[in-house]
Amino acid sequence: MALTGLQIYKLLPQTNCKECGMTCLAFAMKLAAKQADLAACPYVSAASKEQLDAASQPPIRLVTIASDGQKVQVGNEIVLFRHEKTFYHPTALVVRIRDDQPLDEIRALAQRIADFHVEYVGIKLHLDGIALENTSGDETKFLAALEAVRGVTQIPLILNSSNAQTLEHALGKLQDTVPLLYGADETNLDAFAAVAKKFNAPLALRAKDLNALAALADKAKAAGVNDLVLDPLVRGYADSLQTFTQLRRLAIKKNFRALGYPLIAFPGNDVALAGQQIAKYAGFVVLDTFSEASAYALLVLRQNLYTDPQKPIQVQPGLYPINNPDGESPVLVTTNFSITYFSVANEVEGSGHPAWLLIADADGMSVLTAWAAGKFDADRIAKAVKVTNVEQQSPRKRIVLPGQVAVLLGEVEESLQGWQVEVGPREAVDIPAFLKLKP
Ligand code: SF4
Repeated sequence: MALTGLQIYKLLPQTNCKECGMTCLAFAMKLAAKQADLAACPYVSAASKEQLDAASQPPIRLVTIASDGQKVQVGNEIVLFRHEKTFYHPTALVVRIRDDQPLDEIRALAQRIADFHVEYVGIKLHLDGIALENTSGDETKFLAALEAVRGVTQIPLILNSSNAQTLEHALGKLQDTVPLLYGADETNLDAFAAVAKKFNAPLALRAKDLNALAALADKAKAAGVNDLVLDPLVRGYADSLQTFTQLRRLAIKKNFRALGYPLIAFPGNDVALAGQQIAKYAGFVVLDTFSEASAYALLVLRQNLYTDPQKPIQVQPGLYPINNPDGESPVLVTTNFSITYFSVANEVEGSGHPAWLLIADADGMSVLTAWAAGKFDADRIAKAVKVTNVEQQSPRKRIVLPGQVAVLLGEVEESLQGWQVEVGPREAVDIPAFLKLKP
């Protein structure tokens, strides 16, 4: 069980020396809320430290798989809902490759998975790994498939076999790689745990019953394997939602250590189910087959869930040339909220008219929100003009304000002496017509 702030306080020295930056009581409350590191207090006794260490561990263990410098980390979340706090470690999206396919098909598929990426509001999104499955049950085929995959990509791996010896031989062939081993059950746990311990690799455990899953986790831990992933063998909408939510609640609300590990989900080819599992609460989602359309939808969904809801996605303030502008081209100004930037940039680009896009720093807010918050005003626009030295690029000195802040016209004219200041359309979609009339 997690300790309360007062229980933690009783274990602290209670001298209020403030070396941790606060009083003992405040520090205890921060520890209870998992917002402070116990190491900040140098005076905790060894006996108290042991108790507090256990209490200060994250409720869901952080598990890492890695390959050739690429790292995928899941777990370590401390809330149930995104509005409470940001989710930090995005669900790893992984695609299965079966070892009973021809090797050239395996190579081609691995290459497509590794190469696939999505540009979304200036962020490059990609898949996280390949789950190589020993579908054939034949070790020689599995090792050949592994070699085929490694021949084309160093993407992180999940190795899936019911034979611990096959996994051991596969791990022996890998260098600078920490794959997830899937999946031990009560019939083979000892053999799987021995392999996981030998190679210091995380191990996925599977059991239908949660008590059995917790018992497996305790047993694996006693065998020396600390990095675990849980598969409660739920494959449908209702049971996934119910069981994954129950496991997350047990880990976070009850601090039930035996089930405080990331979860792995197998939605088959059902994109909607995969989406549900990303939202609640899978650490790994393994798709049966690769499709660009499914991967695109799931990567974008994941990106939207795993962003800080209090921090809008921003683009870098600055001057962006579109359609090869010159000194006669207009300067369109807007804010650095990424969706605003991409809406405006796409419309200007689509219009075919050259223009300079001046992005003012508005703390990542959209035009009206920034204006209402005092983050997009004449001073900020004048500062952006000065910092980017726009005059050198556009000596014609014609600047266009978003129509939604037409009210700024007078102030901007005052701040930007010598500039021709105009008001543009309210909506980005009307920019092409505006540029056609006033290129
Ligand atoms: S450093 Fe330790 S003893 Fe000093 S105030 Fe902080 S918690 Fe208390």
